[in-house]
Amino acid sequence: MIATITATTYFTNNIVIHRQVPLARAVTLMGHANAIIPPDADLLEIRCPSRVVLVPVHIIFSIDKAFVPHVPTPSKAGVYRRDRGVCAYCGRTIAFEEASMDHILPQSRGGPTAWDNLVNACRRCNEKKANRTPEQAGMPLQFKPFTPKVRLRADLC
Ligand SMILES: [Zn+2]
Repeated sequence: MIATITATTYFTNNIVIHRQVPLARAVTLMGHANAIIPPDADLLEIRCPSRVVLVPVHIIFSIDKAFVPHVPTPSKAGVYRRDRGVCAYCGRTIAFEEASMDHILPQSRGGPTAWDNLVNACRRCNEKKANRTPEQAGMPLQFKPFTPKVRLRADLC
């Protein structure tokens, strides 16, 4: 039997998120600083080899801010959106199909897959730049990449 626990998160701005979380996640969430266990919550008795754990079927979270720091994982689509479809090298606005995600400092030279090392580039520029830095390729960036703003992390609980 797989037990599911309901986690309810109350944010400011009257945002409420109810989620079903698996038991293992619930055990972790119980230790969360903002977790509140309702006094009348039903308890599940979980028998581990070494101990017995009581897990409430409902955990409540109260969060001050609806926006919590969270940096989304970089992706080609994310970089394309952030750069508004503009190639960082030639400045042309390109179609998504024509776009590529370029590592400013190439991966082969230890460049990380991080927002501030990624730009949107058309195929032509990406091939021309190849395994070089913008300086080595004589292709200066038309704009500086940035890390996207925080957004609501719906998977908080
Ligand atoms: Zn280009």
